[in-house]
Amino acid sequence: PRPDPRTGAQVKATDRAHVFHSWSAQELIDPLAVAGAEGSYFWDYEGNRYLDFTSGLVYTNIGYQHPKVVAAIQEQAATMTTFAPAFAVEARSEAARLIAERTPGDLDKIFFTNGGADAVEHAIRMARLHTGRPKVLAAYRSYHGGTQQAVNLTGDPRRWASDTGTAGVVHFWAPFLYRTRFHAETQEQECARALEHLETTITFEGPSTIAAIILETVPGTAGIMVPPPGYLAGVRELCDKYGIVFVLDEVMAGFGRTGTWFAADLFDVVPDLMTFAKGVNSGYVPLGGVAISPAVAETFARRPYPGGLTYSGHPLACAAAVATINVMAEEGVVTNAAALGSSLVGPALRELAERHPSVGEVRGTGMFWALELVRNKETREPLVPYNATGEANAPMLAFGAAAKANGLWPFINMNRTHVVPPCNITEAEAKEGLAALDAALSVADEHTV
Ligand code: PLP
Repeated sequence: PRPDPRTGAQVKATDRAHVFHSWSAQELIDPLAVAGAEGSYFWDYEGNRYLDFTSGLVYTNIGYQHPKVVAAIQEQAATMTTFAPAFAVEARSEAARLIAERTPGDLDKIFFTNGGADAVEHAIRMARLHTGRPKVLAAYRSYHGGTQQAVNLTGDPRRWASDTGTAGVVHFWAPFLYRTRFHAETQEQECARALEHLETTITFEGPSTIAAIILETVPGTAGIMVPPPGYLAGVRELCDKYGIVFVLDEVMAGFGRTGTWFAADLFDVVPDLMTFAKGVNSGYVPLGGVAISPAVAETFARRPYPGGLTYSGHPLACAAAVATINVMAEEGVVTNAAALGSSLVGPALRELAERHPSVGEVRGTGMFWALELVRNKETREPLVPYNATGEANAPMLAFGAAAKANGLWPFINMNRTHVVPPCNITEAEAKEGLAALDAALSVADEHTV
């Protein structure tokens, strides 16, 4: 059916009357009424169509409305819409098998959750029970989810309001050469000094008190800082040395985003626990989980794991995961992300950085890229201050509005825009989005000094 603007107005009015939105001042937001979506695009009721360079919240890795996944959900709904988690169910078993087949190293058992934050909650609970230790080390410039423990682990301003009951969370700096905390000039220095800082933190916190170190393999929302070669291997070594459980959070980086099934594959590193969600079924039905090593699983072999969810391994979500993983394999979605990332998107973004004074750095891999926007390339002063709101954030709002006016829906976080389209985006779509981005960056350029 053709979108009717009157329906759009009604949808919006009802939303404003009754929907309480995430992370928002309720009266200061103006959500777009969306009429439909397909592939890499969505559209409103007014006839505007947008190329989605955000993949929703970086989760529609196979785009919207993939017919094979929609059909699998419909079929599962027709045969077994739901069933309690204590039973063995075909869709759940098969999803676990397909995931375990792809997770790095010996990670072999899957605990299903409803999303990413609760996957992090359970990974940390498992690590604490496995080690009998209380503390967890997590990085500044990170995001691990909106539930209490996950948000306490988070290293961005979304944590601040919930910084109560943070028992045992200690933050450290992970490597990020462009804004180095270690006065480094090369990736090698940044890597070595970040590892030294982490080991010092472990020593002063007391190794025997630390259950886990959690890191996003490639930090996502915080800025897509691909770690330097050797960093994650170094963290793995520290974890082994001190008997600490290594948790990699692949909620955003996993399932094709980096041009590999998991970001850990890029670094040849195997964690003890790995969290996933989002791309596992392109977010068509809520699903997340923890992939568990044999050593941690053994802790709960004869002793009950004290945790669970009504919808753990929900059949509809698992059927969507089975179909999504099969589609990704059959249609070469992961290789598409790798190939387009290295042949087209990466080079095109670097070329934009050369021409636009507002682009301080380009970094990323696969379909996972960040542009660091700056007021000045020499000083690297961010285009807007950290955590800016209102007038101070105006340059980023102007950039975003320009992108939308050009038919591109951009991902924006603080002074960055991320290029995170579906992993099965076509070359033509990517070029269209990059052209719109080019035009929008000219608006950001106006705010440079
Ligand atoms: N971990 C990472 C790395 C994420 O990016 C996110 C969400 O963006 C989460 C955890 C939380 O996932 P969810 O919003 O599904 O709870």
